[in-house]
Amino acid sequence: MNKPSISILLAKPRGFCAGVDRAITVVEKAIKKYGPPIYVRHEIVHNEHVVKELEEKGAIFVEELSNIPTGKPVIFSAHGVPKKIPEEAKKLNLSYIDATCPLVSKVHTEAIRHYKKGRKIVLIGHAGHPEVIGTMGQVPQDSMLLIQNVEEAKNLHLESNEEIAYVTQTTLSLDETSEIIETLKIRYPKIIGPSKKDICYATTNRQEAIKLIAKKCDSLIILGSSNSSNAKRLVEVGIKEGCRNSFLINNKDNIPWERLKNMKTLGLSSGASSPEILVEEVIDDMTKRYDVNLEEIAVANETITFNLPRTL
Ligand code: SF4
Repeated sequence: MNKPSISILLAKPRGFCAGVDRAITVVEKAIKKYGPPIYVRHEIVHNEHVVKELEEKGAIFVEELSNIPTGKPVIFSAHGVPKKIPEEAKKLNLSYIDATCPLVSKVHTEAIRHYKKGRKIVLIGHAGHPEVIGTMGQVPQDSMLLIQNVEEAKNLHLESNEEIAYVTQTTLSLDETSEIIETLKIRYPKIIGPSKKDICYATTNRQEAIKLIAKKCDSLIILGSSNSSNAKRLVEVGIKEGCRNSFLINNKDNIPWERLKNMKTLGLSSGASSPEILVEEVIDDMTKRYDVNLEEIAVANETITFNLPRTL
């Protein structure tokens, strides 16, 4: 029987960014160097598949340092940690290896610089996300305010004689964040922002690629875990750009076949913490049901890599 035809537009770049790649390598190298088990505070990156694979290799993921025996270093996740966490590790006699993405650390440095200059800091980000908790924890509580949307930017109450600066989470929607920053600039024309934007290159490129393909697709599948900020943003960008059938799925087992009926063009991408194997498996499953014409649509060629911590 003839299979129906389908075009798959594969977004590039997709999947692992340099920060995720580095964080996973840190865990793997630590397991090799110190032997299993190696404790990691929080999921090293927000992806179920990655976490499971590392668990099989000997990683143990915990939320509290007090659950970790001494003797081997604990690893801090790519999202970054508040300052009190390394301090707590020292008190517990634990050494640590910091797998915080250097681009998150850059935001921490900015926040600390603003604080030292006596500026009130506005953080644009999502409440409760570990990166936001980590960034807020770089400075005393009353020196940073979190806002999540334009409405909150409009309702900010800051003293007009205060020097104000803003920083952002690295994995936000480019367009929504621009609107929030514009609102802040209208209300506080002297507000100081980063010299280069805080939303990272990987988030930017993945969203730009989705903008390019979403208009041409009947459906869009993003591979990523439900707690992955940048993967969720890709789905939102897809919907905003006109592809209402945009889905976040963990892996091929969650492909929403019913909702893909009569589809002619499928967009496909993955969040910055999703391994490429998950994309390949979706394409394989599509090939079993459809006569697939695969086309990669590229907006950028990423060559960035980050050095590993010196201890490794
Ligand atoms: S998404 Fe950006 S900030 Fe986050 S780990 Fe990757 S490169 Fe770093």
